[in-house]
Amino acid sequence: MSNIVRENRGFIFSTDLLLALIVVSIILGLSAEIVDTISYKMQNYGSRNSLERLAHEGADILIKSPGSPDNWEELNEGEIKYPGLSSLDNDHSPPKGHLLSYKKILKLKKDYEKIIPGNFFPGYVDCSMIIYPLDKTLDPLVIYDSPHLSVSNEVVVVNRSVLCDYRSQGCLLYLNIRPDSLNSESIFLEKCHQLDHGIENGEEYWICRNFRINRSQMKNHSYYLISTSNAAQFQWIMDQSCNKSNNRREFTNNPLKLDGDIKSLSNNMDYEVFFLHINLKKGFSGSFEIMVVEVPIDTPLKELKSEFFKIQPCNFVLKAGIKN
Ligand SMILES: [Zn+2]
Repeated sequence: MSNIVRENRGFIFSTDLLLALIVVSIILGLSAEIVDTISYKMQNYGSRNSLERLAHEGADILIKSPGSPDNWEELNEGEIKYPGLSSLDNDHSPPKGHLLSYKKILKLKKDYEKIIPGNFFPGYVDCSMIIYPLDKTLDPLVIYDSPHLSVSNEVVVVNRSVLCDYRSQGCLLYLNIRPDSLNSESIFLEKCHQLDHGIENGEEYWICRNFRINRSQMKNHSYYLISTSNAAQFQWIMDQSCNKSNNRREFTNNPLKLDGDIKSLSNNMDYEVFFLHINLKKGFSGSFEIMVVEVPIDTPLKELKSEFFKIQPCNFVLKAGIKN
């Protein structure tokens, strides 16, 4: 009898224990699941945070620093410590206002795969970098556009206001001619060697300016006369003070290559000074721009428009995500 009681007690005890164990396991299971979810969320939060940090810090370095060495765009990939797009002043100090260098942008676009993934950003970060000029006549400058970002879970977007120098450093002469230009004394700063140009002559007058070309640049650069469409009704002459010309030519809507003129006028000096004389009809209306520009020989024709030779306000947009 006592045995039976003992066994009964044992049986009751085991059932209780079993029930308790089930409850405990359910609680433990639930807790584990909760812990799992929380830890996943924290991991996600952590990776989102570190992705945000990477994207913001990366964008800051790119737009505020000229990179290291600061002429990295002229070097091979092995010599580049890190890239930066900030343009340098002549004294090698980066200018304020986040002025980006078009040359550096072109180099980063060309060698993006060698410079950014696994170097500037960790290999697991996927990224797009596009510069959008506010002037809609200019195309966006796509440094790199990742096709995978649109399917990525998390994408951090950094958008910064910047300036881009484009090819403004290649502008040797810039004139903005308005009907009141004749009254503006500054336009006649350079004295013209053509005797009749300083004198008003009935229905026409001249605006004469000079520009200088460094001979060492001539062999791998081309020179163009660029004008906006309103200039088509006027004429121009190019010459040198020691080599006068009366060859009047019309402006056109397309850039005019000056390499032939420069070659035939040139005196093999280290620096050559050329004059551009612009003949205007009195009483013209509207304003127009004229530029003489120096560009690398292989510059595409679509870059030979006046907007490319001015500093342009842009938005630098960096998108970053984790690779799947
Ligand atoms: Zn003149």
